[in-house]
Amino acid sequence: MVAAGLCALAAVAVPLSPHHPLASAAAVVGPVLLLLVVALRRRLLWTAAGAALMAAGDVVFRVLWWVHGAPVVPSPADLGFLLGYLALLRAVHLAARGGRTGAGLDALIVVVGPAAVVAAAVHAPLSALATTGDPLRTAQALVAPLFDLALLVLVVRASVAGALTRLQAAALQLAVVLLLLGNAGYLVLVEIAPDVLRPWLGAPFGLAFSLAVLAVVLHPARPPSAGPGAGSSRLVLALLPASVCLPAGALVAQGLAGADVDWQVLGTGALLAAALSTARLLGALRTAAAQARELERLVLVDDLTGLPNRRACAADLEQALAAEDGGAALALLDLDRFKAVNDSLGHAGGDALLRAAALAWASALPPTAGLYRWGGEEFVVLLRGTDAPRAEGVLQDVRLATPAPQTVSAGLVARRSGEGARELLARADALLYRAKDTGRDRVCTDAPPSGTREAAGAHAPTAS
Ligand code: GH3
Ligand code: MG
Ligand code: MG
Repeated sequence: MVAAGLCALAAVAVPLSPHHPLASAAAVVGPVLLLLVVALRRRLLWTAAGAALMAAGDVVFRVLWWVHGAPVVPSPADLGFLLGYLALLRAVHLAARGGRTGAGLDALIVVVGPAAVVAAAVHAPLSALATTGDPLRTAQALVAPLFDLALLVLVVRASVAGALTRLQAAALQLAVVLLLLGNAGYLVLVEIAPDVLRPWLGAPFGLAFSLAVLAVVLHPARPPSAGPGAGSSRLVLALLPASVCLPAGALVAQGLAGADVDWQVLGTGALLAAALSTARLLGALRTAAAQARELERLVLVDDLTGLPNRRACAADLEQALAAEDGGAALALLDLDRFKAVNDSLGHAGGDALLRAAALAWASALPPTAGLYRWGGEEFVVLLRGTDAPRAEGVLQDVRLATPAPQTVSAGLVARRSGEGARELLARADALLYRAKDTGRDRVCTDAPPSGTREAAGAHAPTAS
């Protein structure tokens, strides 16, 4: 941390001795080398690779400058910078892995507005450079700010995805903005006043790498909660519209100031920002709809068996009773001596049996029947448009389908005219108690006119 501070001070102090190439070199290469060391200590290998390549590029750049008496652009040093950028991009990309959906698009939108303004600022000098007929030099001047923008998008993405601490995010964002200003400033200012301004241009780079050192030093052993929903969404919400408005605002400001209106760059920036925001909005709507569907499903489904739950049963029962066509029958099922299953097989064994029973019963039922987990080891079967004898046949099939040696008891009722869900369930519950009291493994029903009947299974053949 102290070393990062010293590097930053040195970077700012460079312009005080501009004709000292060694001092200027140390102020930029120093922080880069320090970044290499701290990244290696934290095992951030892509960051270390990026720092090493950048340092190599800078050394080559300065040696060539010293040999030729003037900066050589483009030069082999640019290969080091290029590969260094790629490694740093990979490092930041990896940091935001697994972040929330939309974080990348948010980052693009946050960056696109300021990027359009920077592009408008370098537009004129870049066009001038392009017309001088040195395409390599133009490409070189263009590539560095473009890499900075990509790096900025990834750093903002890592920040909004919650992969960085607040201080780390601030340090890295400021670092990349300084790189961008350094590279864009180089392009603009060197064209205007090379001799006066060139010595100052090392300062943003030295400062940027000092901040990167700080961010790496602050890197926690366990990164903060990167994952869906993480991140400072309020800040992003504030930055998104600000960024979207920036290019259009800059256009208006240019118009009001009577300056040359750069409609190509700023207009394109405004359109791009609008298109990205629309995509983000559509994505957010899709996510919200999917989440609503998933919530609806979770509210109505039992986790363990995957069957519709008690809430779904209550809703379906109301619906079945409201429809006046044909009869409806309802059975309450309760696995026999299930506590003993848990005691002998363990809770997981009990869970497996609950799932197996649900599966077996579902395949024994007709497609129109409803099977619900009422709670614990109790289930409900709802049969629409049926009468008592047919319902009893179905329930006997269900009982016999129970995975052996497990047995089940059931209380079955056919709906009486005008009867509501509460009464129906109360009658079924009473009959279930009767099935338990009279030996279990049976279906008890009170269907008129034959009166109370109990139908027992093979394991308990007596009926009372
Ligand atoms: P009975 O024949 O009288 O119904 O006896 P029983 O043992 O089945 O009845 P009791 O109500 O005493 O016990 C029900 C047991 O079901 C107790 C509880 O631990 C178990 N149980 C309830 N929900 C679950 C579950 O989701 N998983 C497992 N494994 N067991 C459950
Ligand atoms: Mg029970
Ligand atoms: Mg039971």
